[in-house]
Amino acid sequence: MQACDLCHLLVGAPTTVEPHENLAASGAGALGMNINSRWVDRPWRCTVCGAWMFQNAAHGEPPNVWRMGRRPQDRPQGRT
Ligand SMILES: [Zn+2]
Repeated sequence: MQACDLCHLLVGAPTTVEPHENLAASGAGALGMNINSRWVDRPWRCTVCGAWMFQNAAHGEPPNVWRMGRRPQDRPQGRT
């Protein structure tokens, strides 16, 4: 998978940076939840390159940083 420039630029950026114009938010049900049912990361999908981008929360890994990852459906059930 080849991510576009906008996605590459966002990886590693603080989550205070707005998602770029080609990112579409996934439904709330797709939020990654930790064992305390607080969302860990918010998935976005790039409509140009198809990359999944995750806007990590303060208790995400790494915290408060944009990262690129697998689509949420590929995650193992339960804890990650
Ligand atoms: Zn992209």
